[in-house]
Amino acid sequence: MSAMPAAFIGHGSPMNTLEYNRFTDAWSVFAASFEKPRAILAISAHWYINATVVTSMATPRVIHDFYGFPRELFDFDYPVAGDVALARHVGEIVDPVWVGLDDDSWGIDHGTWSVLAHMYPDADVPVVQLAIDATQPLAYHLDLGARLAPLRDEGVLVLASGNVVHNLRAIDWSMGERGFDWAQRFDDDARATLCNDPGALGDLVESDDYRRAVPTPDHFLPLAYIAGLAAQGAVTPTAFAEGCTMGSLSMTSYAI
Ligand code: ZN
Repeated sequence: MSAMPAAFIGHGSPMNTLEYNRFTDAWSVFAASFEKPRAILAISAHWYINATVVTSMATPRVIHDFYGFPRELFDFDYPVAGDVALARHVGEIVDPVWVGLDDDSWGIDHGTWSVLAHMYPDADVPVVQLAIDATQPLAYHLDLGARLAPLRDEGVLVLASGNVVHNLRAIDWSMGERGFDWAQRFDDDARATLCNDPGALGDLVESDDYRRAVPTPDHFLPLAYIAGLAAQGAVTPTAFAEGCTMGSLSMTSYAI
């Protein structure tokens, strides 16, 4: 078996679950470009807590972690299996980093299922979610990403879901599929770093645009897992969808 890809996907609005656009098309085309994984380890911006934990339930709950969206989005179901053995295995491969097992508090959230609805609409690939530990610095997430490398040789897709630029307060619907100058500039800087020296992701924190592009780290940090994996394997990711929407969201996605 050849190594599985690993990917960072810019998920954007939860409505992308139900809609079809050039970004969701890119997600399904990407999924069709390699053999179906035996399981997915998902790292979602929307599970940002004070611990490093993986879900370890046989049947993860489908969490609708948003408000103000249409009824049909709350009715959306993604009845996927978990993978308890994989959850335990993740704890072993990242040792000595400690990973807790969550068997009842979380499940899979829309950062994960909005993307998987397009990649694997039949919900036929088991999913384990890894929380993003909000107490840890960027370097920790890069390192933890690198430690996940063995999964790629075991048929497991590492799928990080966030947005490189994610400033909800600055959203401007009239911008359509365009970004503000600062958003596009930061997205370009991030692409240059990812595609040349992914291990240097931390340098982006020094960018003049960082505070507007990344007002909180939750949507940016999933990128560190793919950057860490890439740096560990001495490879550079490729952008397979690019661009901003609504002024202050980047939808750019990367794959190794
Ligand atoms: Zn989100």
